[in-house]
Parts: sequence; structure tokens; C-alpha cells
Amino acid sequence: MLLLIPGPVQTRPEVRAAMAQDIAPWDRDFQSVYARVRERVVGIAHGTPGVHATLPIQGAGHFVTEAVLRTFVPAGSKVLIPMNGAYAQRMARLAREAGREVVPVALPDTRGATAEDILPVLESDPSIGTVAFVYNETGSGIVNDAEGIGAAVRKAGRRMVLDAVSAFGALPFRMDEHPECDALVFTSGKCLEGMPGMGFAVARIDRAEACAGNAGSWSFDLSDVLAHARRSGWGSIRFTPPVQAIAAFDVALDLYEAEGGQAARLARYRANTDALYDGIVALGLRPYLAREHQGPVIVTVHQPADPRFDLMTFVEALKRRGVLISNFYNTVAPTMRIGAIGAITPEDMRRAVQAIGAALQDVLPKAA
Ligand SMILES: *Cc1c(COP(=O)(O)O)cnc(C)c1O
Repeated sequence: MLLLIPGPVQTRPEVRAAMAQDIAPWDRDFQSVYARVRERVVGIAHGTPGVHATLPIQGAGHFVTEAVLRTFVPAGSKVLIPMNGAYAQRMARLAREAGREVVPVALPDTRGATAEDILPVLESDPSIGTVAFVYNETGSGIVNDAEGIGAAVRKAGRRMVLDAVSAFGALPFRMDEHPECDALVFTSGKCLEGMPGMGFAVARIDRAEACAGNAGSWSFDLSDVLAHARRSGWGSIRFTPPVQAIAAFDVALDLYEAEGGQAARLARYRANTDALYDGIVALGLRPYLAREHQGPVIVTVHQPADPRFDLMTFVEALKRRGVLISNFYNTVAPTMRIGAIGAITPEDMRRAVQAIGAALQDVLPKAA
């Protein structure tokens, strides 16, 4: 089965094989793996040792995103969020339910947010302390301008947190060039092509220290994760993590380095996306995004206008032809989401396009 979803992604056999063992989290051999993974992640984020640290939270991406919002945005204070997609809305809900005041900036979900979108709002309200946003909006496939927004936040003297869950490892971002960034978050099961189960924040150590006491939750307190690592070592854990997923992630990082790191991964995902986008157009389907706004992670496609079309029926028909795509969408218009990330190649994408064409024939047979 070719898994074309934006996480958990298709993985390589070597990564899956690393799961086939029993592991004690406090065993010294495992602790050295865990410490090594944290160090490697700081490297991928271009963090500076001693300035940045990896602060993991086990579970789904939402958990580590909540941890970052609770830790770096004080309770009751304002956080600006550019609202241009499903994951921005999720971030806003996490912040609101944690008692942070969200200042939403409404934007269309068909282009990335830029510094110009947020700067006037920042300037008009000095009480906004933090800007939080999604790097790659997995709802539609747009990419928000992390470079430009970061520069604007820095200039305005505010803080920034970044949901890079579907971007990290593929889209470029250097923590060492973004001192305004308190933390970015990502998970083991997306662009780094590991198993799902672990969330990571790469965070500024000085800010994590200064923010001690903010979280209002022991589980989601990244300052406590840092304090624990300081006390007990970088290989130590607070609560039981998905040990097999961490062991597999270490192997996934080997493969990432062997491929050539961020630039190589982005190039492959870009080639995947291009093959998919071209193929979709050739089939007569209509991509949701204009080409210049199409990011390299997920291609969203308008559902055929034919009244006989039913997404679930189509997804099942496509699955019978060996390709699995999401059976839900989260754009305003009815769409289909097709992932371009994971251990897959442009050749796989061309095969997928053929299968999509055939499955469309299955569910919308043309009169002979
Ligand atoms: C996948 C994803 C998340 C986290 O999703 P989980 O289901 O909680 O792992 C968060 N933000 C973005 C942009 C994502 O793509």
C-alpha cells in the first residue's frame, strides 16, 4: 500500500524494523539513544548547543503544541495567530482552552501569511506578546512565510512560537538566525519519516527557564522537561515515552543524513509534489491552490463536481488500487488531500496518479 497522507507517513523498512524490540526506558543503552536523538534534533534545527535544547513531549503533535503555548505564552496574555487553515484553528483552540487570549488575523486559506499581514496588528496592539503560527498549513498545502514573519516579530520586539509539525526537516528554518523564536515543534512521524508517537520542541534554554511556572500543567510544562533533563541527564525521561518509536526515530535520522539532510529532502518532496500536481491537472482535476502557492507537503484537489462523487467511496476504490489518501478534508470547499511526504518518490507519485485516474473511472464510469 502506498500511503499518501501528511502523517503518519510511509516509512522505510529499516525504520519499522527498529521497532521490533523490547526496551526499558531507564536502561542505559536506551538513555544514550534518547540523549543522542535530542542532540541530533538540535542540529537539524540549526540550534546552538547551550542556547537551544530539545524538549520532548510524548504523544501527538497537538500535545507538544499545547505544551509550547502553555509554557511560552503566560496565562491571560495575548497571542496573535494568522488564521488561514485548519491547523491554525487548532492552535487557536489549544491556546484559548489553556486560558490564553487569541488575537486572530483572518486570512484566506489559499496563500501563505506574510509579515505584511501581521505587522499592522502587532503595531496597533503592544500588549500582544507572542506570535504563534503554522509553518506548513497541512489543511490546504500553503506555506506561511516563517522567514519574513520571524523578522517582523524580531523587529517588533515580540516572541514567536512555530508549529513546524509538517515542515520540520524539509522546509528550511534556522533557530540560530531566529532569536525571537522561543520554540518550534514537530513530531517523529512526518518529514523526518519516523514512526508516530513523539513530539519535540526545540526551544531556547533561557526562555524555558524564564517561563517556569507558566504552564499550569505538569504534563505540558516544558520548563519542567528542561529542569528534569538538567537534574537527571538528557537521556532521562519524566514519564514513559514510546520507546520503540524513539529507537526507530534514531534510524530515521540516519537515513535523513544519508539522503543529504534538509535540502535533499525538500528537493524530493518538491519533485513528488510537482509530479502529483502535473498528474492531477492532466487527469482534468482542479488543484485547490494556484501553482505559486502550492507547498511541497500536501496537494489538495477539488472534488469532481459530478453529483455521483462521494469521497469515502472514492478513497475505498483508490485503496483497492493500492493507494491510500485521507478520507476527510479541511478546506472551505470540498476537496481531497493527497500527501507528498514520506519515504516515497516521484515515480510513486506517477503510479498514484494512474491509480487515481482508474479509481475515478471506477466510481464515475463514463458512458461508453
Ligand atoms: C500533523 C500536524 C499537527 C499535529 O497533528 P497530531 O494529529 O496531533 O499529531 C499539528 N500541526 C500541523 C501543521 C500538522 O500538520
